[in-house]
Amino acid sequence: MLIVRKYGGTSVGSRARIEAVARQVVELHGAGHAVAVVVSAMGDTTDRLLDLARELDAEPDARELDALLATGEMVSAALLALALRRLGQAARSWNALQLPIETSGRPGRARIERIDVTGLREDLALGVVPVVAGFQGRAANGDLTTIGRGGSDTTAVALAAALGAGECQILTDVDGVYTTDPRMEPRARRLERISFEEMLELAGQGSRVLHLRSVECAARHGVRLRVLSSFAPGPGTLICAEEDTMEAPLVSGIAFNRDEAAITVADVPDRPGTAHALLAPLAAAGIELDMIVVNAPRGGRVDLTFTVHRDDYQAALGLARTAAAGCGPARVEGDAGVAKLAVVGSGMRSHAGVAATLFATLAAQGINIRLVSTSEIKISVLVGEADLERAVRALHAAFALGESAPA
Ligand code: ADP
Ligand code: ASP
Ligand code: MG
Repeated sequence: MLIVRKYGGTSVGSRARIEAVARQVVELHGAGHAVAVVVSAMGDTTDRLLDLARELDAEPDARELDALLATGEMVSAALLALALRRLGQAARSWNALQLPIETSGRPGRARIERIDVTGLREDLALGVVPVVAGFQGRAANGDLTTIGRGGSDTTAVALAAALGAGECQILTDVDGVYTTDPRMEPRARRLERISFEEMLELAGQGSRVLHLRSVECAARHGVRLRVLSSFAPGPGTLICAEEDTMEAPLVSGIAFNRDEAAITVADVPDRPGTAHALLAPLAAAGIELDMIVVNAPRGGRVDLTFTVHRDDYQAALGLARTAAAGCGPARVEGDAGVAKLAVVGSGMRSHAGVAATLFATLAAQGINIRLVSTSEIKISVLVGEADLERAVRALHAAFALGESAPA
């Protein structure tokens, strides 16, 4: 079987780790599998490179930033190829310009459009292990691009789709997808399987174990996707189509995200076009909105609240203030001390009561809910950041996620 294996930052965080990874790859290859590897930058390299750039320039040029950040993955790819060769395993490193991995869209948030796998197929046919630098691409003008933090997962899945691989394995520092981040709740339980849809919601709501677009790409192309530990053997978690999972539990997992900030524009006129006038400048600046709520009008005026990524908070606040100035005596208030959590489960489709349990649990904890948004299989709420951990742990217990699922 052809397997695409991706190793994340912690998994390749030191020379010793790279050597351990090389041994694992040799073992997999020795077991008769063809293997293509995708690597992330070593440890916290990407953060360090970002800091270096920002020390030089608080708002670094996007093209140069991508050129800088892409180097991290190239270092890991070349080092892993060297480590494999030391073990007598033929290997060759590849970066996005060499393959190429063609991307479209803005620097820092580019999207993979196409991967030319000609060179990789040649390697695989000769028993050579190709080691591909994740997270990067080549723009139409030849520039290096990056595809968003955590994006190496997406490189791996896109590669698995392009090569028609039998499985895409994401090796990381946890041994699978858990009911919630085990760093937050030690009682979290590993899931044997989870559906693409549920994983999409968990990733979309902030569970960083898989990059959102990697799950989208796997679902679209039918790539068999598995999360495994690079530190200990085990079955991991298989992400698969819903019909292949067991009977849908009411709630499968809880995701959370501390990177949110809320902005309220209060007392704007209650008439068609207001939301457009307030939000269009944010869209034009490339700022993505997450939750949006318009509350009930009173006296011909309404409040509009939305959340943005914390990195975009100051810019969004400035744009909202300018736009609100055109709407009469509106007030703009911001709060960067918020966090979002979401309970996710396919069983919500057919069972009522999840919202009631969620509200009752948070009420019993004395936790104030600032915003609510729902989809068919998810309920998310915005709470104060200081309440987040207590909220997640209380909900994890309320939905009995720590106990083993009924047979
Ligand atoms: P990598 O560098 O290998 O890509 P990440 O740090 O991006 O690793 O993702 C792994 C981390 O995701 C874990 O260490 C864990 O803290 C976090 N995480 C968040 N939610 C979950 C979850 N539901 N299940 C497992 N891990 C989770
Ligand atoms: N190195 C990149 C990051 O830290 C990409 C990745 O790890 O997937 O975001
Ligand atoms: Mg990751």
